Formats: sequence, structure tokens, C-alpha cells
Amino acid sequence: MELAVETRALGKRYGRTWALRDCALQVPAGRIAALVGPNGAGKTTLLHLAVGLLRPDAGEVRVFGRDPRDGPSVLADIGFVAQDTPVYRDFTPAELITMGGKLNRRRWDAALARDRLAALGIPPDKPAGKLSGGQRAQVALALALAKRPRLLLLDEPIASLDPLARREFMQALMGAVAESETTVLLSSHLLADLERSCDYLIVLQTARVQLTGAVDELVDAHRTLVGPRAGSESIAGVAEVVRASHTERQSTLLVRRDPAVPIDPLWTEHEVTLEDLVLAHLAAAEPRVTAAAWGVPA
Ligand code: ATP
Repeated sequence: MELAVETRALGKRYGRTWALRDCALQVPAGRIAALVGPNGAGKTTLLHLAVGLLRPDAGEVRVFGRDPRDGPSVLADIGFVAQDTPVYRDFTPAELITMGGKLNRRRWDAALARDRLAALGIPPDKPAGKLSGGQRAQVALALALAKRPRLLLLDEPIASLDPLARREFMQALMGAVAESETTVLLSSHLLADLERSCDYLIVLQTARVQLTGAVDELVDAHRTLVGPRAGSESIAGVAEVVRASHTERQSTLLVRRDPAVPIDPLWTEHEVTLEDLVLAHLAAAEPRVTAAAWGVPA
């Protein structure tokens, strides 16, 4: 299995605080991977390490087997859109596309960027500073895709988009990626939007990796169980109780299943969503992280 991103014991420290610590993860090539976690968890730090903007204080990061700080030939394979989609505001999209071509002489698909922006109705001759935040995000994505990167790193690309634009953005991203076999690693707080489009998950919590793996495997490995009020006794078919909530008579548990043993029929089983799963693991690790903190109903 080819790995687009691999980290081993990766750490980055600001003063005495570790922004990322002991981070071991793998993103297989060809995946659309979601990087999620609360504010300050270390998502931006990880992306900056992967694109070589930061130097690790511990461990290592590899992009397609190479250190991203090895030079231009590694960076030519990486597209990166930073948080707040910074584009030069005095330049028009058309000028930005021309500039991208001059900066990326090896491989630059200007037609792809122009066609994308035309399809989205974004005026090519209006300064980027006069476009809406969402339109600027689309311009930044079009420029990143025009580089035809093998790995595309996106830091909260959909935060400024309205719900419809978010869905369109993610669909466009999936389409573009399917055509080009690009691997994507994108950070976001919008779990529901990620569920439809991402097939790999990395959850960071206070500088550490909390959960990682293929989305379908993680979802399949977990269940919500509803049944009689439970104590600390073990339940047949349950490998781990990730999160429990109780009323007087009833308990609701988000569990990791033991695939070899059927769940005790006293319990009613429900499939979990990606959102259930992420929130349960974050809440288990850090009680202050509630559904409300993520802007979703509990
Ligand atoms: P958010 O969701 O809010 O964007 P994040 O998960 O991207 O957060 P990071 O920006 O990676 O989090 O920050 C991780 C930790 O590192 C935080 O505690 C943050 O305060 C700290 N940090 C990040 N950049 C710096 C810096 N330049 N100087 C000092 N501390 C920093």
C-alpha cells in the first residue's frame, strides 16, 4: 500500500507546549482523509509539517516517502490551501491563474482552473479582494487543483461556505480527485459534510491522535446500544464502551464491537454515524468536548 503521508513519533513544540505530540499516522494514497478535532488540537500544525512550512521538534513526516523539506521536487507534488484561503486580493482570478503557471512551470493546468471558475460563475476579471469569502475559497481550490498535485492539503476549506456551496465544493473535490487520483487531507469542524465525502479519518485531540482509520471500517466497528440501565458489568459482543449515558432505567452506549461475538440480545443495536463516532471518542478523552461545542445538537 502506497502511503501519501506517514508520520512517526512526530512532534512540534511552541515553547513548553506541544502543539502535536507522538503523532503516528498513515494516509494511504488515493484517499480523501478528514482531519478533525477541536480548536487547538494540532490540525494546522500537522498540515504545516506535511507541507514543510514547519520543522518537526521530534520524529518525522514523510510525503510519498520523502521529507517535505527536501526541496522543490517534493513540493511540486503537494498542493496546499491554508486556513482563510489566502489569495492575493489585488489580483483577479485570471491573473492568479497566469501567476500560478509561472510559479509551477513543470505542471500547470490553467484550463482546468479557468473551466472550474467559469462553471461556478466566478468572474475572472474581478479582484479577488472583491469576491465573497466562499468565492475566494473556490478560487484557492481551483489554483491548488491546477497544480495537479499528488497530495492536496486543505486547512478548513469549507468553513466560509454556505451549506449548498459546501456540498458543491465537496462534490467538486471528489470529482476532481477521482479524475486525477489525488490524495486529499483536509481539516474541518463540519463532521456531517465530511461523512458524505471522506473515506479516511484522523481525529486529533490536544496534540495527540485519538482515532484513525478507514471511515467504513470505523463505522462498522462501532454500534450504539440501547438497553436496561447498565453498571460496569461486561456485555457480550462489546470490546469497549467508548461513551455511556444513562437515564433512571435505560442506558445508551456507544461501543466498539467485538466482531467475533454477537451483541447480547438484551440490547437494541443501532448503526453509528461518523459524527456520533467522532464526538463519542472526543468526549471520552476530554469531557468538556460536547456536541454543543461542535455546533450540533446533543
Ligand atoms: P483550530 O481548529 O482552532 O484551527 P488547530 O487544531 O488547527 O486549531 P493548531 O493551530 O495546530 O490547532 O494549534 C495547536 C496548538 O499549538 C494550540 O495550542 C495553539 O495555541 C498552539 N500554536 C499554534 N501556532 C502557534 C504559534 N505560532 N505560537 C505558539 N503557539 C502556537
